[in-house]
Amino acid sequence: MTLKPPPLKNDCFALPAGVHWTPVDDALTLLRSRLHTVIETETLPLAQTAGRVLAEPLAARRSNPPQANTAVDGYGFSGAVPEGEHVMPLVQARAAAGVALEDTVPPGHAIRVLTGAALPQGVDTVILEEDVTLGDGEIAFRGPLKHRANTRDAGEDVVAGHDILPRGRRLTPADLALASATGLSEAVVYRPLRVAVLSTGDELVEAGDTAAPGQIYDANRPMLLAMIQRFGYVPVDMGRVPDDRAALTERLSMAADKADLILTSGGASAGDEDHVSALLREGGAMQLWRLALKPGRPLALGLWNGAPVFGLPGNPVAALVCALIFARPAMAVLAGMDWQRPQAFTLPAAFEKKKKPGRREYLRARIRDGRVEVFASEGSGRISGLSWAEGLVEISDEACHIRPGDPVTYIPYASFGL
Ligand code: AMP
Ligand code: MG
Repeated sequence: MTLKPPPLKNDCFALPAGVHWTPVDDALTLLRSRLHTVIETETLPLAQTAGRVLAEPLAARRSNPPQANTAVDGYGFSGAVPEGEHVMPLVQARAAAGVALEDTVPPGHAIRVLTGAALPQGVDTVILEEDVTLGDGEIAFRGPLKHRANTRDAGEDVVAGHDILPRGRRLTPADLALASATGLSEAVVYRPLRVAVLSTGDELVEAGDTAAPGQIYDANRPMLLAMIQRFGYVPVDMGRVPDDRAALTERLSMAADKADLILTSGGASAGDEDHVSALLREGGAMQLWRLALKPGRPLALGLWNGAPVFGLPGNPVAALVCALIFARPAMAVLAGMDWQRPQAFTLPAAFEKKKKPGRREYLRARIRDGRVEVFASEGSGRISGLSWAEGLVEISDEACHIRPGDPVTYIPYASFGL
């Protein structure tokens, strides 16, 4: 483990004064500018780094291909061949992958070559075996054939010494192939981000327990914990806390000890029982963002003992949207990655929708027959719609009337990493 980066500043979520309803993009720009990587690095064998984030760029130790080689099974010789019929004597040797030949193939002679074999000295062009008649110690074929046909140049893919993967890259299986092929065996990566998840509310009971009238099952915690896991971070389950300052204080402190970031749900507005926002405000490092966003009432942002806290709304639909739109890119930066914009697709709407301009909206959506359909109800307590959906449709701040066939922005859950 190396040195830990400095803690986030106390005022890191402060919004410009006088702003009441913050446009989503402004809030995102602000978040982006205030956050930085907060975790340590470690050096791991390459095979253990899938899903980890590079803390230092990787540079190729070796070129790929390391030497010029043949792309096909056939016969190799030097130079282009003009049109017409040709007969060429064969040398005795054979070039196969993994075997280095010492001898030079004389001009006007050919050598048997197998796919992947390094080109022997004196060979820079290869003819396919299907295009050749093999005789006794010689081959016959028809030209023309271009100089360097059917060969691969040394370093045509990657040149030794060049950077192959940047800092902040979350390593994919394909990246491991690239790094291995270019001679690397370890990488300096960030330790995975630990994210604490905490539900608040007197009304909540654990799934599976008996629920009295008025009580509801905690739906956000399993959802958020699973989301963290899918993002490749380490979920830290901090359970449920009643609407009680002392209990919440203690639990937040425990969470700040165990995790790099805390996600709470519920109690984030300015009401009597909204203790998350009240506590963060008392701590002096709290901002209540009144976002021009639906669904998503105020989002409470603050620091608790140095750990950033995202106080998500209690409604599961709003909690999911705020987690995907705000917490996800923030977590990526804390974890060492670049700011992430989910890949979106423009598709025709299969629905009609009227809304107030000046507010961003996310609707639960999915694609059917190439068009984007939305869940019948926009109610933010409709958890079934979250599960029905396969993504979100993003309706721009300015839009006020979407008609069937209009292009809309669809973001599959998969684009968020779910
Ligand atoms: P709050 O933000 O605490 O006012 O909660 C808003 C709504 O979301 C209320 O109806 C809560 O009962 C509900 N809610 C809060 N937390 C959860 C949770 N973990 N699971 C399901 N519903 C919740
Ligand atoms: Mg509550």
